[in-house]
Amino acid sequence: MGFGFRIAVEPVSRLIEEFGKLPGIGPKSAARLAYYVLRMPADEARALADAIIAMKDKTMYCSICQNITDADPCAICSSTERDSGIICVVKEPLDVLALERTGRHKGLYHVLHGVLSPMDGVGPGSLKIKELMERIAGSSTTEVILATNPDLEGEATAMYIQKLLSPFGLRVTRLARGLPAGSDLEYADEVTLTHALESRQAM
Ligand SMILES: [Zn+2]
Repeated sequence: MGFGFRIAVEPVSRLIEEFGKLPGIGPKSAARLAYYVLRMPADEARALADAIIAMKDKTMYCSICQNITDADPCAICSSTERDSGIICVVKEPLDVLALERTGRHKGLYHVLHGVLSPMDGVGPGSLKIKELMERIAGSSTTEVILATNPDLEGEATAMYIQKLLSPFGLRVTRLARGLPAGSDLEYADEVTLTHALESRQAM
């Protein structure tokens, strides 16, 4: 790391270190961001810091779908317009946004907050799978759409959940192929995602 951030004064190096923990931010970008904030007017820097703190203070997991929300239950779970018999299971909150953009899913969601990844120490206990099973056990769910990404971990997670769901005797579907293998749902365009949703197949 030869661009001198180690000799930055302590408050600056502390911010560089914090930025460096963000996804996709290497040490060089972290240093650039920190020096950008350093040059910001004080009120702008404070607004940035306040937005981070307010987001942490004012958001929570929806007790039903586990999505991030500022009111529990979330707007989707408390809507009377949605088909509560269909639950679409996704890896993360961004996937809910991607599917909502298509406007084609009229059911509810369940956010796992990750996928199984034994190499990274992510087992079923680290995900919101138990919450999904408890939710389904006491409900009139007719279909579960497993919409995890079409990559190795996403497929393994879908198969794991499918096995757990088999005693319930409900329709379990998987998004249709057509999403590029190994791709991320959140980056799929609306046409592709709509097709994947409408052509979903029973597992
Ligand atoms: Zn919810």
